[in-house]
Formats: sequence, structure tokens, C-alpha cells
Amino acid sequence: YAAKEHRTGRRVYEAEHDRNTPRRLALIGELDQAINRRDLLVVFQPKLDPVTGLVTGAEALARWHHNEQGFIPPDQFIPLAEHSGLIRPLTLHVLEVALRRCASWRRSGRDLSVAVNLSPNSLMDTNLPDIVARLLGQTGVPASALTLEITESSIMADPTGSLRTLERLNTLGVKLAIDDFGTGYSSLGRLRELPIHEVKIDKSFVQRISVDHRDRAVVRSAVQLGHALDLEVVAEGVEDGETMAHLTKEGCNIVQGYYVSRPLPADEFLAWLTEREAQAPAILEAAADGN
Ligand code: C2E
Ligand code: MG
Ligand code: MG
Ligand code: MG
Repeated sequence: YAAKEHRTGRRVYEAEHDRNTPRRLALIGELDQAINRRDLLVVFQPKLDPVTGLVTGAEALARWHHNEQGFIPPDQFIPLAEHSGLIRPLTLHVLEVALRRCASWRRSGRDLSVAVNLSPNSLMDTNLPDIVARLLGQTGVPASALTLEITESSIMADPTGSLRTLERLNTLGVKLAIDDFGTGYSSLGRLRELPIHEVKIDKSFVQRISVDHRDRAVVRSAVQLGHALDLEVVAEGVEDGETMAHLTKEGCNIVQGYYVSRPLPADEFLAWLTEREAQAPAILEAAADGN
């Protein structure tokens, strides 16, 4: 391992991009197993309307607890899945788990939606809309209660192909969101052409709005642009009350972040929700008072 430290930047770069290093191959095999054995977990982070204080749904996020290496973050295993062809079964697994949970929340009388992330390759999968339709049918979740989150860069990777997929998903009635909004390079004109319903302002802009007036200006413009295009505007990465107050003032429709809740395993999410519902009268009163 000492030798690794002395590698030049270039060699480390090459090693990371070599699909056939033994470690990488082993990890791919283990990820494959984790998906097949249902060891890949899905956690849920609430999405909240800051004006009413009501929870509108949750974003499903994948988690991999590796036997020996412990927790491997999605920023590492999602690219691994993308490059090894495992992204398709991974996406299907997350979609299925998320829709089953959403169906059970809805059966308990809660009008909640669920959001699932799609990676660039998923948009090139021409079967995706059929698979989504089948899973919606199997779980009984209405299409309008499913949001699929995509990034600007994944659309840019194949604009024509992804637009076709997005349009078919839109026809199903599924909602589409642009994730990490503001970090990509798509033109504003493109945004207008896409069949999307929501923009999620990236946390890198959100996190410093109470201390940096430039970040606040960026968020304000993003909210205005979103509303001008009739889109729902979501802010991600809200970590404190001051930030949430600023976002509410700027007209953000939905907030998501550690201040509301960390992503939670499904049963903990339900417990969190039930606890909140018990306090709902107080929360609604506070909202009406403008606090
Ligand atoms: P994302 O879709 O933008 O998800 C938001 C990320 O921000 C999540 O990281 C979430 O845990 C984190 N986050 C939420 N609130 C806060 C906060 O207040 N402060 C900070 N600092 N972070 C916050 P996570 O779960 O590590 O996921 C990272 C990325 O990995 C996701 O970004 C998404 O692009 C990708 N990802 C996760 N699950 C899946 C999946 O099932 N499929 C695909 N294709 N990608 C996924
Ligand atoms: Mg997301
Ligand atoms: Mg995001
Ligand atoms: Mg992000």
C-alpha cells in the first residue's frame, strides 16, 4: 500500500479508470451479489413544503453496506455500476423498493410521492418507460406520485435519445425533475424544451445563502426561472433554520436536507412521519403565525 502513495497522479488516475484491476473486479462482483441478494438498501429523505410544514414525499437513496469495507458511498458505487452494466438491475431494484414503500404509505391514507434518481445510462435504456409502467401497475402507485430525478449532464450525454425517453415517461404521467440544478452546462433554452416538472437547486448554492449574497442571488434567479417556466422549485441540502427561512422567503416550494431529516431506513421514516403527524396541529399553527 505504501507504493500506492508514491504513485504519480497520472498512474493513480489510470488505475482508477482501469476496469480490470482485481479490486475493481471483486467490487463489481460483490455489488452484483448485493443487488441480487437484496443487500442494497434504500433510505428515504423527506421532502417538505416549508409554508404548510407538510411532508409531500421522499427521495429514495441507495446505500451499500459492504461486508468488509463497511459503508461505500453512492458517489463511488453508482459510477462503478454505470461502467459495469449493473446500473440497470440497480435502478430497477431501487425503483421497485421505492414504489412498494410509497404504495404502503398511500394505503395508510397518506398522499405521498416518491423520487428515484436515474443515472445517465438509464436514459439511454429504451426499455425504461415500459419497466416503469409495469412497476407502477404492479404496485398500484399512480404515475403522478413518482418523480424521476435526472441531471443536466446526463441529458447532455445524449440529448436526442434522452429526450425521447423523457417524453415517453412524461406520457405515462410520471414527473421529471432536474437534479443538481445549476451545476450543469445546459442552456436555459434547453430547459424550456424538456418535459420537466421540477428543478432541484444544487446544495452547493443552497448551503451558503445566509452568509453569501452571491449564492443568494443565484438561488433567487433559479427560483424565478423555475416559476417562470411553471416548474416546482426544490432546494436540497438545507442544514439549518436560517437557510430554510431564506428559502421560504425566496419562494422555494419544497425543501430537503438534514435540517428536516437525514435519509432514513423505511421503518424509521414511517416512525418519523407518525411522530410529526402527532405534532401537526402545532406545526400548522406556527406556519399560520408566520414563524
Ligand atoms: P442527489 O440525488 O443530489 O442526492 C442528494 C444527496 O445529498 C444525498 O447524498 C443526500 O444524502 C445528501 N444530502 C441530503 N441532505 C443534505 C444536507 O442537508 N447536507 C448535505 N451535505 N448533504 C445532504 P447521497 O445519498 O450520498 O447520494 C449522492 C448521490 O448519489 C445522489 O445525489 C445521487 O446522484 C446518487 N444516488 C444515490 N442513490 C442513487 C440511486 O439509487 N440511483 C442513482 N442513479 N443515483 C443515486
Ligand atoms: Mg436526487
Ligand atoms: Mg441533487
Ligand atoms: Mg447532488
